[in-house]
Amino acid sequence: MAKILNVSNLEKSYSSGSKKLKVLQNISFTIEKGDTFSIVGPSGSGKTTLLGLCAGLDRADTGIIELCGTNLGVLSEDERALLRSREVGFVFQDFQLLPTLTALENVVVPLELQGVKKASKKGIELLEKVGLANRLHHYPSQLSGGEQQRVAVARAFSNGPSILFADEPTGNLDAETGEKIIRLLFDLNADTGTTLVIVTHDMELADMTQHQIRLKGGKIITEQNTPIS
Ligand code: ADP
Repeated sequence: MAKILNVSNLEKSYSSGSKKLKVLQNISFTIEKGDTFSIVGPSGSGKTTLLGLCAGLDRADTGIIELCGTNLGVLSEDERALLRSREVGFVFQDFQLLPTLTALENVVVPLELQGVKKASKKGIELLEKVGLANRLHHYPSQLSGGEQQRVAVARAFSNGPSILFADEPTGNLDAETGEKIIRLLFDLNADTGTTLVIVTHDMELADMTQHQIRLKGGKIITEQNTPIS
């Protein structure tokens, strides 16, 4: 199987005043194309930071991240943004929808900005796929948390990403709604082959993924493959 993400000897620190806080140390792992992968660990262990680095949202201090065969470290900010727009989808815990746009506009506007033709038709298809055919013209404030996250998932899949990163995608949802979102993400993984990388503290969810790493204090303390039952 082809590798889609290769992380090698990654380190990241944040500066706070004159002090440096080492957040990630000696991180190495790989993810195969089409896999489902989770990153677990206590709060503050570096999960979100790691996800952001892998998605090209921020730069590592040292180490190599190869995403879709490209070394992120040698890319300019613009080149990383271009790679993200082509290959990466991202789902956030707090949905991050634009409140002044309808559900459909939240999906369509990013497509139009990328010059995608028939963006509106594509947006409608995506929202139908996530079960929101009857919510196209609702604003985020008129949608439940679960519906807002469905819009965010539709938006994240709109560019046909090779890899989707989700940071605590069920963190703001009740258990039943969260389960539906997870089922949606796994169905999309099965349908489209999009690799799924999920940060979560929900062990039931982590155990559903084929591979998982556990962070503690910025280091990988366990790495395991979950047998597919
Ligand atoms: P997790 O996702 O596991 O909760 P994070 O990656 O969010 O962990 O944070 C890891 C550590 O880095 C925490 O101590 C956090 O306070 C710190 N941190 C995160 N982002 C920043 C930032 N932009 N500037 C300074 N410190 C940060």
